[in-house]
Amino acid sequence: MKIAFYTLGCKTNQFETQALETLFEQRGHTIVPFDEFANVYIVNTCTVTALSDKKSRNAARRCKKINPQATLIVCGCYSQMEPEQAREMCGADIVVGTGCKGQIVELAEQAQAEASFPGGSAVQEAREFEVLPAGGLRGRTRALLKVQDGCQNFCTYCIIPYARGRCRSIPLTEAVRQAAFLEKEGYQEIVVTGIEVSSYGIDLPDHPSPAALLAAICRAAPHTRIRVGSLEPRTITPEFLEEVGPYPNLCPHFHLSLQSGCPDTLRRMNRKYTPERYAQSVEMLQAAYLGCAVTTDLIVGFPGESREDFEESLAFVEACGLAQVHVFPYSRRKGTPAYSMPNQIPQKEKEERSREAIGRFHTLHQNFLRSKVGQVLPVLFEQEKDGLSSGFSPEYCEVRVNEKELHNQLLSVRITGLSEDGWLTGSILPENP
Ligand code: SF4
Repeated sequence: MKIAFYTLGCKTNQFETQALETLFEQRGHTIVPFDEFANVYIVNTCTVTALSDKKSRNAARRCKKINPQATLIVCGCYSQMEPEQAREMCGADIVVGTGCKGQIVELAEQAQAEASFPGGSAVQEAREFEVLPAGGLRGRTRALLKVQDGCQNFCTYCIIPYARGRCRSIPLTEAVRQAAFLEKEGYQEIVVTGIEVSSYGIDLPDHPSPAALLAAICRAAPHTRIRVGSLEPRTITPEFLEEVGPYPNLCPHFHLSLQSGCPDTLRRMNRKYTPERYAQSVEMLQAAYLGCAVTTDLIVGFPGESREDFEESLAFVEACGLAQVHVFPYSRRKGTPAYSMPNQIPQKEKEERSREAIGRFHTLHQNFLRSKVGQVLPVLFEQEKDGLSSGFSPEYCEVRVNEKELHNQLLSVRITGLSEDGWLTGSILPENP
């Protein structure tokens, strides 16, 4: 059979798609691009914002236009929350939620018998991590290694705990096995990903910590860059830094979710830290990894966020010296506590705050990039863009050089300049092999 995938949302979804592609290939099926004729289309959906829901539906609707006879499988967070909509509005033949994705191959193969698997509540009962195989090379430089699923933090704006259920972690030995496998497969970078990696291990017998996990992965794939997807500020402690410090293959790039720099807003969000605690985590990282990139997400226009709260949030971010900030206007999700909070901010105001924040943080990102000019950075090249080869440094700075056919090569590059669009330029050092 020909199978085509469309993936929306986070790195966990990307990992799961990659794993499913491998499972299909192991059964002798062929993966084709999404806009080509296929027997089975699989749309791995996202529900983090109302826009994600819409994009998920649009992607699903496109499939039957290419092949009306195709089997359409809709899986992931949107279909977990809205299984009926996925069936009715998207025309899905099979709806799978966020659990049991490993059964999709079988379901696809049984599609003529109109097999169907219920989306909806099953994931709330899930207590064990579903181990999916790590993917093989398909022109990709970076591999994703999913180590954790679910979240029980219940931030008041977030639908994920309802969509993905409780925290489930991959056993340490399995994470180690997959990391070693990915290095053997030729990947040069592994991104350790999950819905809430900071809760890694709380459900496992010996409660291994996220630091123990990262250290074990770094040891298992010593010649591969290890990048962490996203962490909560509480994870960064002296003990954490001591445990991961000895591993030079851990990338000095840490994404610490902030969401707001205003203490009152953080409380209403049910985020369990203060701006002071966040700043301490950033300082610890910046002291332990000189020149490291600490990046974050920020929500603007959360219910009750006054103009002063917004200003306070922006000023806090600027004072932290972060490398990059991803700004999101608050998206109201039915079924979350924040949906019914008073003082919702009008859409227009949310968009204006978002534009203002993006403008201010552009300078912050440019300053971080400028600090790299004149340095030599190891760059892992991934693709060609506008006639230039493009890749990433360990700090996740995009670097472009005027050379061709460098895909999957790790080369030392002297950084010579930066563009207004957020990337660095450089030239490859002659002593590279
Ligand atoms: S930590 Fe909060 S924002 Fe992140 S997935 Fe869990 S509930 Fe959502």
